Amino acid sequence: MGNLLVVNDLHVDFLLGDIKVKAVNGVNLEIKEGETLCLIGESGSGKSVLGLSILKLLPSNVNISGSILFNNKDLLKLPEKELRKIRGKEIAWVPQSPSTSLNPVLKVGYQVAEPMMLHLNMDKKSAWSKAVNLLNFFGIYPADKRAEEYPHQFSGGMRQRALVAMGTSTKPKLIIADEPTKGVDLIKKVNVVKLFEQIKRNNDKLSLLLITHDIPFAKKLADRVGVMYCGQVVEVSNAETFFDEPLHPYSKALINALPSRGLKPIKGSPPSMVNPPKGCKFHPRCEFATEKCRNEEPPFIEYNGNFVRCHLYDKR
Ligand code: SF4
Ligand code: MG
Repeated sequence: MGNLLVVNDLHVDFLLGDIKVKAVNGVNLEIKEGETLCLIGESGSGKSVLGLSILKLLPSNVNISGSILFNNKDLLKLPEKELRKIRGKEIAWVPQSPSTSLNPVLKVGYQVAEPMMLHLNMDKKSAWSKAVNLLNFFGIYPADKRAEEYPHQFSGGMRQRALVAMGTSTKPKLIIADEPTKGVDLIKKVNVVKLFEQIKRNNDKLSLLLITHDIPFAKKLADRVGVMYCGQVVEVSNAETFFDEPLHPYSKALINALPSRGLKPIKGSPPSMVNPPKGCKFHPRCEFATEKCRNEEPPFIEYNGNFVRCHLYDKR
């Protein structure tokens, strides 16, 4: 399958007075048509910023460079007007917090219908009836009555499903969801997994970028897994091999920190994004670090069809 999205050497710096925070520091990433890519990593590793960059939903105090090709068009070069046509229609964003992301004073049905009126030129009546169908599809019953309600009348899980209904209403090619299981208990997490399985069933050409620190959740849904550390993608591997045999020492540490794998904490703490370590950004925490790791930035290289940024795999 072809690539829907290709991110090339992306850098995103936040400028806070004299301080420059390197939130995304040279990321290369591809998302294929129809695939689910889960982006994992500790909080503060740049995952959300990467997601927001794809939609150019970043504050004004950022410097951004590189390219983000969506269907061969560089999103970073598109004028805002063109971008608005893509955002919400071809690329949908399901935000982290369902409680604050719906408009409290508008009926839920209207909020699901609105993108269809805006992007698909549907009239209010047909958009409303499509919205009711979508709410029903995502398990919000009885959908015709629920569509007339306001967000505060919905539970947290229902709000999330309403946001997903809203995000999928225009049949986007890519959905980016930020931490969809954050603050969700274990029982309800099963529902979130089902929700995303349902989204895929509704449209198998759809690509999903799921940003999550929840590895068991990623394991349930991922076709491929990307691992972020200190603003960089340090590994992209197929899900079949990743969870049993991750390549990068940081990925191994993440997997070994899971309760099912002995709950071994990752030693040390995440590095500063203002002054990241020289060489490999993981070297202060890596048990395999050598002199080369401390001085030379490892390249992002292909290894058995997967990709890894680590000198251990660099056999040149
Ligand atoms: Fe560890 Fe060196 Fe690989 Fe970095 S490049 S992860 S320090 S072995
Ligand atoms: Mg985040």
